[in-house]
Amino acid sequence: MDSAPLWLQVSAQTWPAVHRPPLLKQRHKDLAGMKSCNRKSLSAILRFAPRISFALLLFSLASASANLPSQSADLSSPDQLKEEIASAPCKDTERLDAVRKLFERMGAAPADIAVERFKNVENLVISKPGLSSEKIVIGAHYDKVSDGCGAIDNWTGIVVLAHLYKSLKDAALNKTVLFVAFGKEEKGLFGSSAMVGAIPKDQLDHYCAMINIDSFGLAVPQVLDNVSNAKLRNLAADLAKEMKIPFSSASVNADADSSSFMKKKIPAVTLHGLSNEWASIIHTANDKPSRVNPMSVYLGYQLTLVLATHLDRDPCGAYR
Ligand SMILES: [Zn+2]
Repeated sequence: MDSAPLWLQVSAQTWPAVHRPPLLKQRHKDLAGMKSCNRKSLSAILRFAPRISFALLLFSLASASANLPSQSADLSSPDQLKEEIASAPCKDTERLDAVRKLFERMGAAPADIAVERFKNVENLVISKPGLSSEKIVIGAHYDKVSDGCGAIDNWTGIVVLAHLYKSLKDAALNKTVLFVAFGKEEKGLFGSSAMVGAIPKDQLDHYCAMINIDSFGLAVPQVLDNVSNAKLRNLAADLAKEMKIPFSSASVNADADSSSFMKKKIPAVTLHGLSNEWASIIHTANDKPSRVNPMSVYLGYQLTLVLATHLDRDPCGAYR
């Protein structure tokens, strides 16, 4: 199963009805409206959503992590996320370089950006040191299949990852956070497998948790249960509830980079934002920036940010 490309094995029948949240379905209609030159509906959503959500996020950050004062988090807006999604490179060969440039725009010094080269894959890694050597990994794959622009799968994940970096880079954190853009996920989780394979056995305990971000843009944040640790799934559900962010989860016959970490007993969770429409979009020519609902990506960013700061506060072994 780990050698199968993400989502390829998923049939429309296996995607549960719970993935049609009415809220996002409505918003999706609004996004479709925008394509026919009616921008009103989308801007109406964006007008109220940031204000409400920023207040919630500040509250959540303050309560979720005593060690992360809300004023130290440089929060991103839906418009900022949308802008980066629009520039998704459609050629696979241009993606790694584009990820590097994106991180530089988010404030990373070129010297802090490392490309880890393995036999058959390259991962881009930025380490943000914390007080201890205990680690949290936040990852997203940057590669794409040959069809389409790979905007949803998975430039959205890369954009969320880079904005999380921007929001956390100057925060005082307990744990070291590794921001990783994985290569060749679509070929069979090559990048994430190579990364965990290179961790010395006696260091595995230092990896407290891994959050994988894969394919936002169609619906509310969801956990892919079959490749996620149940305790982390429950934490994500609890935090979403606290933040009043709609949330769902389900098992689907698909794989993702969190699997590579789970195999080494590192608690991991995959977050996505796909809907029942996925089959006609993912891995097709339809996976282009215009199909991305920025609010889906924005909610994913918010939830991941609060999840990461919560994990930073919790004892390392809490989710094993
Ligand atoms: Zn993917």
